[in-house]
Amino acid sequence: MIGLISATAAGAVARDRLAAAWPGRVRVYEGPVREAVERAFAECDQLVCFLATGATVRLLAPLLADKASDPGVVCVDEAGRFAVSLLGGHGGGANALTAEVAEVLSCTPVVTTATDAVGVPGLDTLGLPVEGAVATVSRAVLDGSPVALRADGVWPLPALPPNVTPAAADAAATLHLTDRLLELGSAEAVLRPKSLIVGVGASKGAPVDEVLGLVEDAIRDAGLSLLSVAALATVDAKSGEPGIVEAASRLGVPLTTYSAEELSRIEVPNPSDAPLDAVGTPSVAEAAALVGGGELLVPKRKSSPEGRAAMATCAVVRRAPRGRLAVVGLGPGARDLLTPRAKDELRRASVLVGLDQYVDQIRDLLRPGTTVLESGLGAEEERARTAVAQAREGHAVALIGSGDAGVYAMASPALAEAADDIEVVGVPGVTAALAAAAILGAPLGHDHVSISLSDLHTPWEVIERRVRAAAEADIVVTFYNPRSRGRDWQLPKALGILAEHRAPHTPVGVVRNASRPDESSRLTALGALDPATVDMMTVVTVGNTATREIAGRMVTPRGYRWQTASAGEAE
Ligand code: SAH
Repeated sequence: MIGLISATAAGAVARDRLAAAWPGRVRVYEGPVREAVERAFAECDQLVCFLATGATVRLLAPLLADKASDPGVVCVDEAGRFAVSLLGGHGGGANALTAEVAEVLSCTPVVTTATDAVGVPGLDTLGLPVEGAVATVSRAVLDGSPVALRADGVWPLPALPPNVTPAAADAAATLHLTDRLLELGSAEAVLRPKSLIVGVGASKGAPVDEVLGLVEDAIRDAGLSLLSVAALATVDAKSGEPGIVEAASRLGVPLTTYSAEELSRIEVPNPSDAPLDAVGTPSVAEAAALVGGGELLVPKRKSSPEGRAAMATCAVVRRAPRGRLAVVGLGPGARDLLTPRAKDELRRASVLVGLDQYVDQIRDLLRPGTTVLESGLGAEEERARTAVAQAREGHAVALIGSGDAGVYAMASPALAEAADDIEVVGVPGVTAALAAAAILGAPLGHDHVSISLSDLHTPWEVIERRVRAAAEADIVVTFYNPRSRGRDWQLPKALGILAEHRAPHTPVGVVRNASRPDESSRLTALGALDPATVDMMTVVTVGNTATREIAGRMVTPRGYRWQTASAGEAE
């Protein structure tokens, strides 16, 4: 819950805007400001104070306890110009909340946490638990001092700045990346990869303390960290067993379950008859931990409650790091048509692969230390292979493409190369047909297709057959790759096929460099288009027989019966 506190009439207006925007998420604290702050501080995870930072600091000072438990606090000034992350920037979520508040109130977000301010990832923003001398090591990372990275494996982390290297000589600090327990010095921190899967079995009614105690002992005795536990795993029949469910919840990890049939196919060192009789598989703990492969670090062990038989078993497996490939569409060109998710993925990557001209488009968004592997036009397959190979090595890779990276772009060659040993994430982008349509009006209001006229990789007969089918079916067509210096006859030929089924006055939209600085667009007609005005930076959208030019815009009706039949249809 987010507590909102204001002192003045102007503050109350801004406060009410936030309350209206976030119903159910906020609670308004009224009355004298000091008491309001005290109550909100005790009751909420986060506070937004419509007060000066100075006043807020004085009110908060006596209440502060500890970075780990204090709420995150954001201040908004009287004029509503700034949202300031005051307290709990990372742990309390105040930096993220500041961005959200700024969005709703249209003010400038102010974040002063060192690592965010200079684009260096704070150790606590890398998506992994971190412990040890976090502040000292973060400081060294930020100051550019040599920091030694001691990693057990390659994990798909965001880029670390260049002063963090395995071979750092005279290191001022050490950053470990391991699931093993370590004796840490005063300038050492450790990131905990989510590498451990704990398989658990339990008889009906096994107490949570018995299950949790067993898991904790097993992990500790093996010299491992509980913070590296990625998940508990068990058999489907135990998916609702309270001791297991509660143990997962107290560890803050998901519970994954598998069918007895799947578990019985897994080779395990210690099968037994008891689970076979009870749930139909000779192993629960070992098999469930081993389903995704990995190294069995702790074979099946049983709990040892005093005075009665054991009710729980567990086994621990270390799984190999899995690299991450994000296939990211950058949109047609304009920065504000790059989605926030695409931006996040670019900052999530440590390796960026793409065509040089697209890399230039987003270079400023990358974290310092990102490895950039750029290549020229035509090297698609090589780019795809490089991206997959990097992910296979365990890195977090972003493979970029303009528009949508899955539309006549890198996603298919990359995924054709990829096996299931890497994680793949797709981020959609605004493809050229959509960017162009928004400029032209509403040409895609009814069924539409995209057809690439490039016959470099597709035989012309195939392209022609598809153009003919679209022509016969009266579908709106957007041509990608319509014409280049060496390919000039394909567009007139394709337009000719459409003209066999559509009148010469059929509207045709030509958009060049949509959303780029030299954008241009033209609305013409099928019988009037001069193909010489079209090049590779252009898409050409040909209307269907119902498409009209209305007030200079290209409009394809939703359908002939739209006016009467629309009542039950969603937009
Ligand atoms: N993945 C891209 C398409 C790559 S194919 C996307 O989803 O948009 C390359 C063709 O896309 C170009 O020849 C051109 O026809 C079209 N194109 C890409 N960006 C464009 C833009 N900003 N304006 C107009 N056409 C564009």
